[in-house]
Amino acid sequence: MNIILFGPPNAGKGTQAKLLVENRGWVQLSTGDMLRSAIAAGSDLGKRVQAIMDAGELVSDEIVIELIEERLPEAEAAGGAIFDGFPRTVAQAEALDKLLAGRDSKIEKVVHLVVDRAELTKRVEKRAAEQGRADDTVDVFNNRFDVYEKQTAPLIPYYTGQGKVVKVDGMGSVEAVAASIATALDG
Ligand code: ADP
Repeated sequence: MNIILFGPPNAGKGTQAKLLVENRGWVQLSTGDMLRSAIAAGSDLGKRVQAIMDAGELVSDEIVIELIEERLPEAEAAGGAIFDGFPRTVAQAEALDKLLAGRDSKIEKVVHLVVDRAELTKRVEKRAAEQGRADDTVDVFNNRFDVYEKQTAPLIPYYTGQGKVVKVDGMGSVEAVAASIATALDG
C-alpha cells in the first residue's frame, strides 16, 4: 500500500514513518532525508539545495520529483511506500499521481497528522535547545509554517477530492499517534 504522511513541519511524520517501516516492512521515502544526505555527501545537488533548506524554503519540484522517481522500484519491491515530506506542492502531487499511474500503482491513503501551531512551536523550541538542524530554529520554523500554509495545505482539498484523506490527531504520545494511524490504515 502506498500512503502519504501529511502534516505541518514537526508534526511527527518522520517518527511515525519509521514505526511503519518497522511494523509493516514498507519503505520510507523522505525527500527531506534524501536532501540532507546529499548535503552531507557534499554533492553538487547538496550544494545547490543547502541555502534553500536552511532558510525553510522549498527546493524545486523537479529535484524532489527526480529523487522520488529513483526510489519507486525499491518501494514497489517492499510492497509499499510511505511518502514523508513529499508531495509539498500541488505540482508535486500531480507529478506523483502520473508517475504512479504509469507503474499501475496509486496513492491509497493520505494520513493527515493534525497538530496545532502552539504545539509545533513548543517542539521546535525543545529541539533547538537540544542542538538541532540548521533549519530547526523558531525563526526558520515560522517561515516553514508559512510556506506550508501557502504551498502545501492546498494538497488537502486536492486529495480530499480523491476521497483519500484520513485525519489523525497528532497531539498525543508517539504510541497513541501510531495506534491512531494503524486504525486509519486498517479500518
Ligand atoms: P520536517 O522537519 O517537516 O520533516 P523535512 O525534513 O521534510 O521537514 O524537510 C526539510 C526541508 O527540505 C524543507 O524545509 C525544504 O527546504 C526541503 N524539502 C523537503 N521535501 C521537499 C519537497 N517535497 N519539496 C520541496 N522542498 C522540500
